[in-house]
Order: sequence, then C-alpha cells, then structure tokens
Amino acid sequence: MAKIRFEHCPVCGSVHTENIFLIEAGKPPVVFIRCAECGAFVAKYVLSKYTSNKPADLLDIPQTQFVGAFDDDAKSSYEEVQKVLNEKGEEFKLIENLIAEANKK
Ligand SMILES: [Zn+2]
Repeated sequence: MAKIRFEHCPVCGSVHTENIFLIEAGKPPVVFIRCAECGAFVAKYVLSKYTSNKPADLLDIPQTQFVGAFDDDAKSSYEEVQKVLNEKGEEFKLIENLIAEANKK
C-alpha cells in the first residue's frame, strides 16, 4: 500500500524546501534538501533517475543512465501520488520508518 509523506524540516517543521543538485561526471545526481524557511539541512537524496516536466524532445538531450523521459509513465505515477494524497492524506511517520516498513522481508 502506497504511503505519502512530505519532507519536513527537522528544525522548524516547515515543508517548504529547496533542492540543491550536485552533479559530477560518472556519479548519480545528488540532491541536498535545504529548508527554505530556516536554511537547515533536511535530507540528501541520491538519484537513480531524474525526470522533470520537460519533454526530452524539446530539450534535445540524450537519455542517459541518470535521465529519464518525461513520459506517460512519469505522468501517471505523479497522478497516482496525487490520488493517494487526496484520498488518504499524509502519513505522519518518519520517512525512514515508512521506507523500512515498505521494505520489510
Ligand atoms: Zn526549517
């Protein structure tokens, strides 16, 4: 069962965040999440694939190991997230616990 959780600042509780990308040759993109309200370090994501709301044919960039197309799959997965969020709302548990629960053997 899918669960939804917003990233919350551990210092001030805000859900307003900034995504700071670190991109290095041959490495997966890394995103540091910074609180837009108080500037605290919130989280670090290492991406297996980056997809944005920019069709690849418009950007004229090749699909690479770490870049995914903004295709029907990307759009439908986002719509599913919106549906779960509207129906069930946010799950108020630590993201670490939600990830652990979802990956129990
Ligand atoms: Zn904050």
